Amino acid sequence: MQDETSLIEKCDIKSLLPNELESRLSDMGQPAYRSKQVFKWLSSGICSFDEMLNIPKSLRSELDKYFFLTSPSVVRKQVSKIDGTIKYLWGLNDGNCIESVVMKYAHGNTICVSSQVGCAMGCAFCASTIGGKIRNLLPSEILDQVIFSQIDSGYNISNIVLMGIGEPLDNFDNVIKFLRLVNCKDGLNIGMRHISLSTCGLAEKVDKLAELNLQLTLSVSLHAPDDDTRTKIMPVNKAYNVDKVLDSCRRYFLKTGRRISFEYAMIKDVNDTPYHARLLSQKLSGSGSHVNLISLNEVKESQLHPSTPDTVRRFIEILRNHNINVTIRRKLGPDIDASCGQLRRNEIGAFCDSNI
Ligand code: SAH
Repeated sequence: MQDETSLIEKCDIKSLLPNELESRLSDMGQPAYRSKQVFKWLSSGICSFDEMLNIPKSLRSELDKYFFLTSPSVVRKQVSKIDGTIKYLWGLNDGNCIESVVMKYAHGNTICVSSQVGCAMGCAFCASTIGGKIRNLLPSEILDQVIFSQIDSGYNISNIVLMGIGEPLDNFDNVIKFLRLVNCKDGLNIGMRHISLSTCGLAEKVDKLAELNLQLTLSVSLHAPDDDTRTKIMPVNKAYNVDKVLDSCRRYFLKTGRRISFEYAMIKDVNDTPYHARLLSQKLSGSGSHVNLISLNEVKESQLHPSTPDTVRRFIEILRNHNINVTIRRKLGPDIDASCGQLRRNEIGAFCDSNI
């Protein structure tokens, strides 16, 4: 005979906002203060309802009947001896793996979180997209990366960048829910101005994000100023070309007043010529935007290589001569280098090898 509880479809409790939790618990006959207590427990890294010590045992077992708790496990952890950067490979409840990176900066410790298992965007230089997208992460699974990294590392995390595995705007609703959860004062209480979101430029979703008027920083992965080059390295350019992306960025700035930062990975003989630098300057001229040059991390499955230091210097000089604000992304954790998504790739590789 089937157990009665196995017929109940359990709900993901950590993905509920305070008002949603309060309404669920009120349906169970619980007062508002209980829901506040439960909500606080959810950001504390508990792995079972029985750890909620100030909640009556009867309610704990009722919660267990109707809700489930996500709790990732550390599958692999790499710590840089040079700067303390930590890379985590997390195992999710369904056996999938994702990555997060915790970095130490003078302005506060920052975590880079994943938003999907894999990625559907197909960028030629990125390890996360090899093998495609497996599934979206739940709001709770994005939140867990912050909660459990903080506990495991002992670092107090004050800043978040959504720049790990996945395209955040391709998981729009769950990512927005995550942003609202992490922002809750009874939760992790991380302010929107301490959060950056990076997108390959899904123009309609950039417009949808602008409507929400959140005070986060939007970074757009441009990587080329012309459609020929961009389409070669970013297939998403066929749907949202350079001008469509830049138009949505202009609308975003008008609506939110927040300047956009453009990411540009310097790829040898692909997007790093003086022609590209001049065209980029022209396209961004007068926008007040900022270009963040990234040194390409070599991905073993791709034939692309980083630009030489001389080429990078010449590129920067052209941008600066055109009054474009440009910075170079500091490379953290050089001794534990594994490009975006590479740790997960290695794990899948190891898993496959052991199954041959
Ligand atoms: N999907 C989102 C966020 C994830 S990737 C986006 O496209 O923005 C975060 C940043 O790392 C993006 O700018 C991405 O283009 C860049 N990136 C990915 N692989 C890289 C590599 N091998 N070397 C340098 N930058 C890379």
